[in-house]
Amino acid sequence: MECPQCKLINPESAACCDCGYSFLSGKMEIPHVPVVSASKLPDALGAASGRKTPFLAKLGLVLAWGVVAAGCAVLLLSLLLKYWGL
Ligand SMILES: [Zn+2]
Repeated sequence: MECPQCKLINPESAACCDCGYSFLSGKMEIPHVPVVSASKLPDALGAASGRKTPFLAKLGLVLAWGVVAAGCAVLLLSLLLKYWGL
């Protein structure tokens, strides 16, 4: 059967489409989003946008994630040090 949402042809036995449309309820359900780790996120974003992400943009995203991760680590460490009175 054809999905009315994305026009993808699905097997007759399919309960829902890849886009998240449910043939049973006839409406959009939560789409099946693959779980991606933080390090894979820039790649996932590039793939989701349907275009090739330039190397520099990818590098920038990776660096941004690194800065966020480092910031969290420093914040956590300072809280722990304060907690233990060191
Ligand atoms: Zn669909």
